[in-house]
Amino acid sequence: MRIGCPKEIKPQEYRVGLTPHAVREAVAHGHEVLVEPGAGLGAGFADADYTAAGAAIADSAEEVFALSEMIVKVKEPQAGERKRLREGQVLFTYLHLAPDPDQTRDLLDSGVTAIAYETVTDAAGGLPLLAPMSEVAGRLAAQMGAWALQKANGGRGTLMGGVPGVGPAEVVVIGGGVVGTHAARIAAGMGAEVTVLDRSLPRLRYLDDVFGPMFRTRYSSGGALAELLERADLVVGAVLIPGAEAPKLVSRGDLARMKHGAVLVDVAIDQGGCFETSKPTTHDDPIYEVDGIVHYCVANMPGAVPRTSTIALGNATMPHMLALADKGWRRACEDDPHLLAGLNTHAGHLTYYAVGKAQGIDV
Ligand code: NAD
Repeated sequence: MRIGCPKEIKPQEYRVGLTPHAVREAVAHGHEVLVEPGAGLGAGFADADYTAAGAAIADSAEEVFALSEMIVKVKEPQAGERKRLREGQVLFTYLHLAPDPDQTRDLLDSGVTAIAYETVTDAAGGLPLLAPMSEVAGRLAAQMGAWALQKANGGRGTLMGGVPGVGPAEVVVIGGGVVGTHAARIAAGMGAEVTVLDRSLPRLRYLDDVFGPMFRTRYSSGGALAELLERADLVVGAVLIPGAEAPKLVSRGDLARMKHGAVLVDVAIDQGGCFETSKPTTHDDPIYEVDGIVHYCVANMPGAVPRTSTIALGNATMPHMLALADKGWRRACEDDPHLLAGLNTHAGHLTYYAVGKAQGIDV
């Protein structure tokens, strides 16, 4: 099969769909790979890295789309890209179709077979192609929180780990899933005193078993959170209720009871945010202040570290990409119900129930 990797064109997107290592594997499986010039530059991969791995460099994006049987990307195809897709071609990328009727209509009109990263499942009931980005966002949450705590950024001027004779920062992580666990690990590794809140007792038991005394766990109730907020230097919002907007767990009134210069990092901002005072920000202008509390609410946190994010995403997508190329999409999906869960459109038909429900289209 000929696999195409175009350069991402969504503003501020520096990741790329295929790493040179993924190209090498695809070529070893007998496939051809066509890469748009400069596709990997944002993630630190030169065209020469791709040719060394066995890819051919195309003349243009147009050529990549025209000549490839499968397109591997990161972000949902933009309007101009969607015009280049066609029936018989496979598109493997993040789509997030439910809130995007324009994209849904264009994909159906094109006839492309679109497999969405975010709806591929695994045997444990997880979303394995979303998890790497949650891992990145969680680890970055602790890092950005530490940065925002610095005086020059409006924070309290507290060092995460303290120093001998001076206590560490107190960090509260709300939600102990993928994001929260990684945020807690990094914050604890920096020497902060960390408490993780979750509503799931099995999850709290798991965290306690695995991490022992590295951080504390508390059952997430309004009372427990109120107690912790008063002492917190940094609060990370990392809750998710699948398919629903994030619950607002910290109100504007709660800010008045927090320490002046404390920091809120709302990772759940892509689901509407879990603090009442959150609004989405960008990497160019990531923080703002409300009632003396610094807010960091960047909606695409992994974009700050495109090299790590690209490699992490590539590690997760590679086996599926190879299965699609080796067997063709139909056999690959017949053999693997978790990959089949990723199928969103085929030959003009919508094949994903939640998208149909959101948009009133028959599936
Ligand atoms: P996850 O499902 O692994 O974890 C969510 C956790 O929240 C679960 O353990 C759940 O029990 C817990 N929870 C639900 N309600 C709660 C409550 N009231 N109090 C405490 N805990 C509660 O999800 P995840 O992958 O960790 O993602 C968390 C959020 O981060 C999601 O909204 C996701 O979309 C978002 N995210 C944002 C970015 C970004 O760049 N901003 C990147 C990746 C993920």
